[in-house]
Amino acid sequence: MRSGFVALVGRPNVGKSTLVNALVGTKVAITSPRPNTTRHRILGVLHQGDDAQVVFVDTPGVHRPRSALGTRLNETAADALCDVDLIVAVVDATAAVGPGDRTVLERAVGHVHGGGDGAAAGLIVVVNKVDRAREDQVLERLAEVHEAVDALAGPAGLPAPGAEYFPVSARTGRGVAELRTHLVDRVPEGPPFFPPDVVTDTPEALWVAELVREQLLARTRDELPHAITCRVTEWEWPHIRVEIIVERDSQKAIVIGKGGEVLKAVGTAVREALPEGAYLDLHVTVERRWQNRAEMLDRLGY
Ligand code: GDP
Ligand code: MG
Repeated sequence: MRSGFVALVGRPNVGKSTLVNALVGTKVAITSPRPNTTRHRILGVLHQGDDAQVVFVDTPGVHRPRSALGTRLNETAADALCDVDLIVAVVDATAAVGPGDRTVLERAVGHVHGGGDGAAAGLIVVVNKVDRAREDQVLERLAEVHEAVDALAGPAGLPAPGAEYFPVSARTGRGVAELRTHLVDRVPEGPPFFPPDVVTDTPEALWVAELVREQLLARTRDELPHAITCRVTEWEWPHIRVEIIVERDSQKAIVIGKGGEVLKAVGTAVREALPEGAYLDLHVTVERRWQNRAEMLDRLGY
């Protein structure tokens, strides 16, 4: 039996969560076209019979923080790189490799090179969204990212690590099977970490709050997606009360919608993803500047 932890890192929006869902084959992380959708370390467990178990660690995107929340998200992403067996750095095929990607690669290389306990054994670079790029763009991106990795000598003058490169589309599934096979082959010998029927460690209440936030992200724009956070405040099956927190009264009005239509649509969509009979009670409250208040971030589990 082989088993191991594989962390995915990258700039916001490159498709890390979509890729984890595709690799695991079950939706374990919410996704959206908005940056900073992932705010926690999310685990997704891939079971390959009695042969192997791969625990994928999805992380918030590494970015320049504009709030206390942003700083914590970067810390969560950085912590996730410790004590994993492999690191998958994800870049977007449709955009040139930029300074943000280089920061991500530098960190990843640092962890592969760290030496001693907790150093990852290998780096895999994924060029995602190949369905949206021309063949020559994909090749250009592969060359760019290869060059960027080679340019990164490790700490203490160590040579740049060898990396493997995979062009994939997390959305269409192209290249995902090859990547999955490679990762399964590279995790070390060891006992499984999770029972065979477990695909994630996300508690049910957090998952419902995440589904509500995913639906709100799909229906709001500009700065609003960042200003929203959700938590379950009551759980007495089938009765679930979810509190939606925003920063301003004007945002509260948008989240509720004309005649409550936005909330209603969110509730309907989330209920469809839950076991039959769930009763969702959605409440919107205003907490000024919650993204910059340490005690609020603590309470919200960030
Ligand atoms: P993350 O922030 O890196 O976790 O990115 P997400 O997984 O949330 O994806 C960000 C956006 O990119 C979403 O709208 C996804 O549907 C989209 N996306 C992810 N992977 C692909 C892909 O392979 N192709 C295309 N066209 N879009 C993708
Ligand atoms: Mg994500």
